[in-house]
Amino acid sequence: MKAIRISRFGGPEVMEYLDVPDPVPERGQVLVRLHAAGVNPVEAYIREGKYMKLPPLPFTPGADGAGIIEESGTLPVGSRVFVTSSVTGAYAEKAVCAAEDVYPLSDRMTFAQGAALGVPYGTATWALFYRGQAKRGETVLIHGASGGVGTAAVQLARAAGLRVFGTAGTPEGLELVKRNGAEAAFNHKEPDYLDKIKGAAGDHGLDMIIEMAAHHNLGKDLPLLAKSGRVVVIGSRGPVEIDARNLMGREADIRGITFFSPGAELRAEIYSRISAGIADGSLNPIVGTAIPLGEAGRAHQHIMTSSALGKLVLTM
Ligand code: NAP
Repeated sequence: MKAIRISRFGGPEVMEYLDVPDPVPERGQVLVRLHAAGVNPVEAYIREGKYMKLPPLPFTPGADGAGIIEESGTLPVGSRVFVTSSVTGAYAEKAVCAAEDVYPLSDRMTFAQGAALGVPYGTATWALFYRGQAKRGETVLIHGASGGVGTAAVQLARAAGLRVFGTAGTPEGLELVKRNGAEAAFNHKEPDYLDKIKGAAGDHGLDMIIEMAAHHNLGKDLPLLAKSGRVVVIGSRGPVEIDARNLMGREADIRGITFFSPGAELRAEIYSRISAGIADGSLNPIVGTAIPLGEAGRAHQHIMTSSALGKLVLTM
C-alpha cells in the first residue's frame, strides 16, 4: 500500500510517499481501508519534532480517517466507519486501529466528512461541555470558528442551545461561520472587532470563549467575559501577557485543554454524543479542502499558513 513515512523530524519535505507493506491487525484491532484522513495542526508540530510527545522514528502520521473495514474479529467486514485514532497512522491507504477507536459512519456522510470528525469534534466536545461546562442559554464566542475545530464547536454549541458568536480572518471565512449557524461573525483581523463583540454581547458579556489562538488573544479575551466566565484554551503557539485583574472581579477562569486527557471510557461517551448529533442532523462536518495523500507536504503547508475554510483532509 501507499503511505506517508517520516524518518527524520523537519519541514514538510520529510514526509515521503512510499510503498510499504500492509499493516496486520492483532487481536482486538481492526484493519480499515481509508478513503480520507484528517489533517490536524498537531501533526505538523510532531513532524517538525516540536511537540511535547514525539513518536519513535520512522512513523506514519495521522489519527483521523474514514473508510471501509477490511479485517476485524468483532466488526462487520465491508462496513463504513470513521476512526479517531490509529496504531499505524492514518496518512496511509490502510490503517490498523484499536476496535474501540472505530465507529460506524452514517450513510449520509462522505468519507471526507468522516475524516473530519475525530480530533475536531472530540476536542470541541471536550472543551465546550466537559472542561467548559457550557449550559443552554449561555453566550459563547468561538474565537477561530472557520477551521476544523471551530466549525465543529459552532455546530455543537448551537445544538446544545447556546447563543453562538464566531470569528474568522477572511470574508469567505465569515460567510462560512454564519452559514454554519453562528448568530454573528467577526473578523479577528479588524482592529475594532473586539468592540463589536462587546456590543453584541451586551452588558452581560460572554459566558465562555473557546480560544484557538491564545498567543494572540488571551489578554484581550478576559475583559469580554461575564461574571463567572471561562476562557477554554484549545490552541496557543507562544507566550502571551494577561492582566490577572481582569479575572478577579469577574471570578473568571482560564482553562487549558488537551484532547489527550480523556481516557477510553470518556472518549467512548464523547463519540457516542457526536454520533447522536450526526444521527439527529445537527452535526455536519464542513470539508473545505481535499488534497491527495501523495501531497501531504502541501497539506501541512496549507494548514499552517492558509486561511481556514472548514476542515482539510487527505484523500486516497
Ligand atoms: P485550523 O483548521 O487550521 O483552523 C485554525 C483556526 O484559527 C481558523 O479558524 C483561523 O481563522 C483561526 N485563527 C487564525 N488566526 C486567529 C486569530 N488571531 N484569532 C483567532 N483565531 C484565529 O486548525 P484547527 O484544527 O481548527 O485547530 C485550531 C487550533 O487548536 C490549532 O492551534 C491546533 O493546534 C489546536 N488544537 C488543540 C487541540 C488540543 O487538544 N488542545 C486539539 C485540536 C486542535 P482564519 O484562518 O479564518 O483566520
